[in-house]
Amino acid sequence: MFREKRRACTFAVMNYAELASRLTQNDVTLVAVSKTQPPARLLELYHAGQRIFGENRVQEMLEKRVALPDDIQWHLIGHLQTNKVKAVAPFVRMIHSVDSLHLLAEIDKQAQRAGRVIDCLLQFHIAQEETKFGLDQSEAFELLHSAAFQQMQHIRICGVMGMASFSDDLTLVRSEFKTLKNIFDRLKNDFFKDALYFKEISMGMSGDWEIAVEEGSTMVRIGSLLFQ
Ligand SMILES: *Cc1c(COP(=O)(O)O)cnc(C)c1O
Repeated sequence: MFREKRRACTFAVMNYAELASRLTQNDVTLVAVSKTQPPARLLELYHAGQRIFGENRVQEMLEKRVALPDDIQWHLIGHLQTNKVKAVAPFVRMIHSVDSLHLLAEIDKQAQRAGRVIDCLLQFHIAQEETKFGLDQSEAFELLHSAAFQQMQHIRICGVMGMASFSDDLTLVRSEFKTLKNIFDRLKNDFFKDALYFKEISMGMSGDWEIAVEEGSTMVRIGSLLFQ
């Protein structure tokens, strides 16, 4: 039993080293998605050099944060309810899942209280699957044109995030990543031309990260491939 566990751990770290080096070569940031994993598994990757971890649930992120080293950068990648923003505002490094002006306003408010500026990504709905989450282009334009957005001083929109269809059809997956890249380019041109911080395209997971990198991803969110 013990032996098997050890072997699994070593495998994860080997996978990590190989993946991390391939991503570094492409200037792509790795967000290690650690949801459902116990702190000990995160610590293994931490010791192998990983500092950025992604969680999709606030409560789980809070619990792991107190159990793990202070210099971990916590990224929130899952849907965020406004009543949970306050708990993460003092420390969260990036929120990938901003999908409404209402949520962004709350992040701005809680960031101000915490005396911070919080980096955010706008999440877009690019997959064919029906999901409630994610903006479309016109909603994003409306948000960015709004007076409310333009007055916010405690958030910084650093780019976009999206999830491709969970599908074996790689042509479809690739076209969805291309869509997100196009949205990024359009927003960059129309709203963030001079903003050096607007540079992130968070796309690519365990099953499709190589395609995402080919299509311009700057940040991949990888879980199961690392923690198998
Ligand atoms: C779980 C999750 C991932 C990672 O998925 P894997 O297939 O395990 O790599 C990436 N992004 C989001 C938003 C997730 O919830």
